[in-house]
Amino acid sequence: MLEGTILKDALLGSKNLFFHDALKERPHPILRSGLHATAAVNIRRFFEETDYVKAAAKTIKKMLNRHKTLQMRSQYYTFVGSGSSSVTISYEVAKLYGGRHVFTDKGPDGTQICRSDFRDGERILLVEDVETRGTSSKETIAAILQKNPNVEIKKSIACVVAWHDPLELLPEYEVLPLLDLSGHMNTMEEGECTLCKLGSKAIPLKEPGNWAKFIKDY
Ligand SMILES: [Zn+2]
Repeated sequence: MLEGTILKDALLGSKNLFFHDALKERPHPILRSGLHATAAVNIRRFFEETDYVKAAAKTIKKMLNRHKTLQMRSQYYTFVGSGSSSVTISYEVAKLYGGRHVFTDKGPDGTQICRSDFRDGERILLVEDVETRGTSSKETIAAILQKNPNVEIKKSIACVVAWHDPLELLPEYEVLPLLDLSGHMNTMEEGECTLCKLGSKAIPLKEPGNWAKFIKDY
């Protein structure tokens, strides 16, 4: 099982979670939103170890089975993951339930598109790797509804880690994280960033090669 502090320790131990230590030599991340952050998580890299994916999926299943209204044990679900990064975990969870698995990917304009079709009344649950404001999940929900507006998308989203204002953009949804770090990351506008003022360089979180710079020993 991989929940709470066990998951946090595994992420820290494998250097896939970092909290900025205020060393000016250490750069800090610029998020997709343009905000500067004091911490970051790299689930894609963490899940390169398939044992972690399996353990996380089992823990998500345990968490979902306890959920009061989802009734996972008696209802059939289709599991959907956003983009390329959530596919690993959404597929593994779908496999444990013996359910259908669908994923979205990025279209020409950079937003999520769905290439699969859905039946009327199909019961859908989103499973994501990292849930922040809900940008990708919101696009995925729109992409599913564009394929078939008569599906039943559950108002709960399971994820591995919740960060920084989880699901702010989807206020009617609840986030079900294995690890909730929402109070452990500060985000700042460029002009007000305390790490920039300290002399730390801001670099894009997702740019290849940057992760190694965040976790390096300085
Ligand atoms: Zn900054």
